[in-house]
Amino acid sequence: MQFQFLGTSSGVPTRTRSHSALALQAPRRRDWLLLDCGEGTQHRLLASDFSPATLAAILITHRHGDHCLGLPGLLAHASMNGRREALTIVAPTEVRRLVESALTLTDSTLSFELDFVDVGTLAAPLQIAGLTVSAVALSHRVPSFAFAVTESDPPRRLDRAGLATAGIAPGRAWGRLQRGEDVTLADGRCLPASRFAPAAPSRRVVVGGDNDTPELLADVCRDAQVLIHEATYTREVAERVGSAPMHSCAARVARFAAGVALPHLILTHFSPRYRDRGKGPLIADIGREAAAHYQGRLYLARDLDRYQLDEGGRLTATPFEPARVSARAAAADGGGGIDP
Ligand SMILES: [Zn+2]
Repeated sequence: MQFQFLGTSSGVPTRTRSHSALALQAPRRRDWLLLDCGEGTQHRLLASDFSPATLAAILITHRHGDHCLGLPGLLAHASMNGRREALTIVAPTEVRRLVESALTLTDSTLSFELDFVDVGTLAAPLQIAGLTVSAVALSHRVPSFAFAVTESDPPRRLDRAGLATAGIAPGRAWGRLQRGEDVTLADGRCLPASRFAPAAPSRRVVVGGDNDTPELLADVCRDAQVLIHEATYTREVAERVGSAPMHSCAARVARFAAGVALPHLILTHFSPRYRDRGKGPLIADIGREAAAHYQGRLYLARDLDRYQLDEGGRLTATPFEPARVSARAAAADGGGGIDP
């Protein structure tokens, strides 16, 4: 399972950080999900490993502009590149009105259908792009949701020793077990896939929208390896700003993650008052505050950094390399999108 940050700033963008957006993909898949679509997402995609042509669904956590104002431009982009496949958008109903109004008022017609799902009525988990997606209501100034994204079809490992002991030579039976099918042999013996090719535990990443109460995520985080959550402020700034914005500070998210024993916590959606380096409040201050409360693997998201969650639930971060993009852009001759 892999994901890449396309934007990590709250409110307004900075020179290094765009508005919220995250690309996420199941293993062995070309299609992928976009979680939030702040302004500038289509530009960030040009430097990413993901293409609008293979996008399966867009999930919007809430209707604030820094999470959805990139939608009309991204949809128009996909249309101008000739997309034909319908696109699912899971979002608050206001976002549907925003998209439909923007397309109408700009005389834009899409080359593909939009399939809107009201996130507030997402009763059954959505199965899409090899992933199972469920929504969890959060606490913010407007209705806001987290998405728990779980691998639908985890890989199976053949019990080669067990099969050899049972006298089953490599062949069709092995392939069927690997695909999760129970096998009945000619001699009547039954080989259950759950015994001879058990599935690895499904990987799960929980991606929060804006939220001042991380504890609302306790249930979905129990089987998760990764929580991606806003830490808009340090506690000192949060107390100065007051509770009206309804955001989380680093200490609160970190304490929550420690309480549910999450192995990996990625903080994002930083107030633009925090800088990457230099003088003044720093994003590193947010990291230091979180680290005082959380002993797992802690990361501070940066635009275009990529993460890989392997079968064993280990997370590997790959920092963004501008030179890599330059080479790919040159290969694409500077025009259009860059397909993976
Ligand atoms: Zn926000």
